[in-house]
Amino acid sequence: MSTEPQASDRCPRCGATFACGAAGPDPCACTTVTLGAALQERLRTQFRGCLCLACLRALAQPQAAGDRGGGGGAATGP
Ligand SMILES: [Zn+2]
Repeated sequence: MSTEPQASDRCPRCGATFACGAAGPDPCACTTVTLGAALQERLRTQFRGCLCLACLRALAQPQAAGDRGGGGGAATGP
């Protein structure tokens, strides 16, 4: 009856506890979310470790609702 994933990880973005697949037999939830290379690099610089699935899905969207006020460098292509 102990098949529940251990929420030993805390999302650095929203503070929610979740279980990273890296610590279990199942693949990490982040593998189910397609993140752009630029976004992955940005997350690495902003956060340490994995984010929860909710945040990953929110960030994976082109226009995240809660992504305003970033003020980061806008990567304007040629
Ligand atoms: Zn989160």
